[in-house]
Amino acid sequence: MTSRDADVLVVGAGLAGLATALRLTAAGRSVRVLEASDGPGGRMRSDRVDGFTVDRGFQVLNTAYPELRRLGMPDLDLRAFVRGALLRDAHGLHLVADPRQAPTGAAGLLGAPLGSPAERARLLAYLGAVTVLPAARIRGARDRPFEEALRRRGIAGDPVEHFLRPFLQGVLLERELATSSRFAALVLRTFALGTVGVPASGMGALPAALAARLPVGTIEYGARVTAVRPGEVDVEHGTARRAEAVVVAADPLTASTLLGIRRPAMHAVTTVWHAVPSPPTRRAVIALDTEGGPVANSVVMTNAAPGYSPDRRALVASSVLGPEPLPDALLRSALARIWGVGTALWEEVAVTRVPAALPALPGGSPLRRPVRLTEGLYVAGDHRDTPSIQGALVSGRRAADAWLAGR
Ligand SMILES: Cc1cc2nc3c(=O)[nH]c(=O)nc-3n(C[C@H](O)[C@H](O)[C@H](O)COP(=O)(O)OP(=O)(O)OC[C@H]3O[C@@H](n4cnc5c(N)ncnc54)[C@H](O)[C@@H]3O)c2cc1C
Repeated sequence: MTSRDADVLVVGAGLAGLATALRLTAAGRSVRVLEASDGPGGRMRSDRVDGFTVDRGFQVLNTAYPELRRLGMPDLDLRAFVRGALLRDAHGLHLVADPRQAPTGAAGLLGAPLGSPAERARLLAYLGAVTVLPAARIRGARDRPFEEALRRRGIAGDPVEHFLRPFLQGVLLERELATSSRFAALVLRTFALGTVGVPASGMGALPAALAARLPVGTIEYGARVTAVRPGEVDVEHGTARRAEAVVVAADPLTASTLLGIRRPAMHAVTTVWHAVPSPPTRRAVIALDTEGGPVANSVVMTNAAPGYSPDRRALVASSVLGPEPLPDALLRSALARIWGVGTALWEEVAVTRVPAALPALPGGSPLRRPVRLTEGLYVAGDHRDTPSIQGALVSGRRAADAWLAGR
């Protein structure tokens, strides 16, 4: 038996599916979201482990994402990190930060191993340009692998090895800086312009707040879609569902299987969460290893968001690229070197492996891919836009608009 229970069926209640549903309901259309798991958020969810808040991989929200502003940023009690980083090198930890947030951060910039005065000047000129240029100019520029684009501007060596690569590898989830130069520039721009933080109760608070804006009952959980056709889907252990259109907002790999579209390469990351008796720093700032060690970044979550811990212990999130954690002894010694403290008393709370964390967006890629596949069949998700919260949200709105415009 088939039933037509909505104008549009949306597959997946991640950010893209939620954005699609919000746009369509705002336009007065009825929507049913079919979500395989037991809650909204997809790759952006938080769990409670022994009272600690553990996000499904370390990630942050940036208030400069235009699509969040467009949607109306929910009140998430955002707990901010300092705009900058602690850079670990052989001589110590250097705080390089926006002096408006951390007065000693500018001095750190002078002390950090970022190359000759001319190299520093070129780095700062580039960062200044991506901050002040209109986003449209960046989007309209020629796209290359980011490292190549930097080299063409004379930015190589120390500024890349001691700042850009350690910083961006934790954001792009790849070390080669082979990612689209336009996307990398947009990322740096949002870091310069926005506040970066986590909601007091975990990253899952954002999708939960967006889901709460939908009419009650819009999202059906535990509904795994096994096949899609224009205007129709099959649900595991259920009946076929019909609507005027279907928007597939599943994760990139499932979407490619369901739709037979391009399968993007995916970058992986693994985050280990430690409860520590006393934090290695009181600063709410990310620590980066500028000497090419195996840990991409480490951050004391509770310095920004004390509610991530149920008691006085601090919670530290440390990430490595790839789908597997480091052997424990190696991880502890890498963290001891980064922070300059012993880690023997650090207690592992959880390990979050995310083998398919971000779709690769190599240099030369379009920043937007079509969302309309055929009449009655659409696709949304960060693989249709940029691999980010911003990209996922925009793709959902674009899919909804494409359907609304075509009717
Ligand atoms: C560890 C990590 C760190 C990140 N850090 C950042 C960051 O700092 N800043 C940033 O901007 N972005 C970051 N991102 C990226 C951002 O989280 C994602 O781009 C975004 O959440 C993707 O949303 P989506 O809706 O496209 O896909 P998803 O979140 O994957 O949502 C897809 C949904 O579809 C559901 N689904 C799948 N198959 C089916 C099916 N067959 N039937 C029904 N439902 C199905 C899934 O359960 C899921 O809920 C990070 C991602 C990860 C994983």
